[in-house]
Amino acid sequence: MSSIIQLLPDHVANQIAAGEVVQRPASVVKELLENAVDARATEIKLIVKDAGKTLVQVIDNGLGMSVTDARLCFERHATSKIRLAEDLFSLHTKGFRGEALASIAAIAHVELKTRQEQEELGTHLVIEGSKFTSQEVAVLPKGTSFSVKNLFFNIPARRNFLKSDTVEFRHIVDEFERVALAHANISFMLYHNGSEMFNLPASNTRQRIVNIFGGRTNEKLVPVKESTEIVEIQGFVTKPEFAKKNRGEQFFIVNNRFIKSGYLHHAVMAAYEGLLKDGCQPGYFIYLDVPPNTIDINIHPTKTEIKFDDEHALYAIMRSSIKHSLGQFNVSPVLDFERDANLDTPYNYEAKEAVMPEVHVDRNYNPFAVEEKPVRSASMSSGSGSFSSPSFRKTQSQPAWESLYTGISTSSSEDIAEINFESEEVTGSLFNDTEVEQAVYKTYQIHKKYIVSPIKSGLLIIDQKRAHQRIMYEQFLRSITVQHAASQQLLFPLVLHYNKTELELIKEMQDALQNTGFVFAEINHDHIVVSGLPVNVSESEVSILLEELINDLQQEVPDSSFSQSDSIAKSMARSLAVKTGVLLSEREQENMVNSLFACKEPNVSPFNKPTFITLSVEDLDKRFAI
Ligand code: ADP
Ligand code: MG
Repeated sequence: MSSIIQLLPDHVANQIAAGEVVQRPASVVKELLENAVDARATEIKLIVKDAGKTLVQVIDNGLGMSVTDARLCFERHATSKIRLAEDLFSLHTKGFRGEALASIAAIAHVELKTRQEQEELGTHLVIEGSKFTSQEVAVLPKGTSFSVKNLFFNIPARRNFLKSDTVEFRHIVDEFERVALAHANISFMLYHNGSEMFNLPASNTRQRIVNIFGGRTNEKLVPVKESTEIVEIQGFVTKPEFAKKNRGEQFFIVNNRFIKSGYLHHAVMAAYEGLLKDGCQPGYFIYLDVPPNTIDINIHPTKTEIKFDDEHALYAIMRSSIKHSLGQFNVSPVLDFERDANLDTPYNYEAKEAVMPEVHVDRNYNPFAVEEKPVRSASMSSGSGSFSSPSFRKTQSQPAWESLYTGISTSSSEDIAEINFESEEVTGSLFNDTEVEQAVYKTYQIHKKYIVSPIKSGLLIIDQKRAHQRIMYEQFLRSITVQHAASQQLLFPLVLHYNKTELELIKEMQDALQNTGFVFAEINHDHIVVSGLPVNVSESEVSILLEELINDLQQEVPDSSFSQSDSIAKSMARSLAVKTGVLLSEREQENMVNSLFACKEPNVSPFNKPTFITLSVEDLDKRFAI
């Protein structure tokens, strides 16, 4: 029988390897930056076009390569970093597999320019899909420049699989930040589509963190330092009061390499025990130095997990040293638990006293009086105007729910003239009421959670939080997409600090946010100045609202502009809607009911949960029949 096994040609093997090493433009960024660091550069420039899809270029002032090395570096398993198996146990470089450049050259157009310090002339090489297309001697600055163009040009499936520029660029910034944080002593720059995104001078760790994440970061940091036989720990954690709802800025850097570790993360969280508000997470920048032979070097090229010899000891040391730092810097007493974001409401409840819900008995109520003329519904003029939604006029096409609730009077008195029920059987107010000038129906709030109201067919039970989310969602979506909302001018503009990635997101959302009523006087490199707010947003809510919005958008990055509007409206509705546990006045309850049924889709919250249920008299009868 003839043999059938063959060795794969190099370019095929490289393309297969590339599948593992290069998942997206950010993978190229990581490999090139790490190579520049390994080449002992003191200045590294990253230039990116179209989120790396068109170009990723890294220019360094490091050691450079000889002509032979310049050609060899594209071979598989070609590395200058290890020679013997033993070297694997004393690794001090980022790379060692000699796989990255071979992989990248298999799936992109790569241009290399490099010169060693002692040489007068350098080498200029072009390699495309593993084939050298040109090699020249050239006058070049000291160091190396790799340009990687048209990534995945020969693997259309991979190219199509790439996400939007926003998403891909965020991955690039993530990689850039990780390498920049691990090497504060090297200067890093990042340009995207011609504009400077980061310019980080060589500095110490603290300055590097502040340069990346913005000026106000400095005041949030608490230093951590511990030196033991098995590990040297240093770095910073953020004060508990700056904890955020998202995982945001959390970095472990082991022997100058960014790693992820759920186990060590747990150790940090354990150190904060009792200091954090529910669901909030601190930021941390923790640098660990361990002897290279105590970690498993067999790190997958793209994975960032790592194995330590003595994880348990590390856990304990980390936890206690962070705990100690938090205690030493006396951060616990400044904690402010008084302000509970969950209790924030769009109306100024803080100023109000809690009142017991009143029980009203409608003496005019006549259970037999069914056939009545339609009456005006409750006035919509609530003090705060939160629920008034003049933009939601009844339209000719009746939503499905209306056939169930024939005759429900759902819109404000101003709108009454425009209502045109399709059904001719307008038999009277659903909320039987005899006095025209009074509220048309009664609502009761139970457990600060549900609004109940007798209706013609039985009982209506509304979930206040979900209902309000629906109302606000439609309001915001409308103001973003159709009719811009008014804004309230702030006497003293608010200055809010953000990091680069967050600011990019804010810029992207700027138009949509302005339509809702936000006015941005300035969007700067590390802060924004807000001079106007949507009418239903109070000053104290702004920073939480924007934080949650950024967080939500980072989780689920919208690709189209509609889905962006939709995500923004959803997020704002979730942040601002009245929560469970908030007492509502009678008028607010009425407004809630009115506004809900004036919505286009009153049945469900923006997150597709039911907003109300009804219990029919028959349902009730059945329950009593037992
Ligand atoms: P590895 O980094 O694992 O050694 P790479 O494929 O990333 O493998 O790089 C191969 C070799 O090319 C490196 O070992 C190094 O000698 C050389 N090299 C790569 N980038 C640079 C650079 N920016 N400056 C100098 N030499 C470099
Ligand atoms: Mg490398």
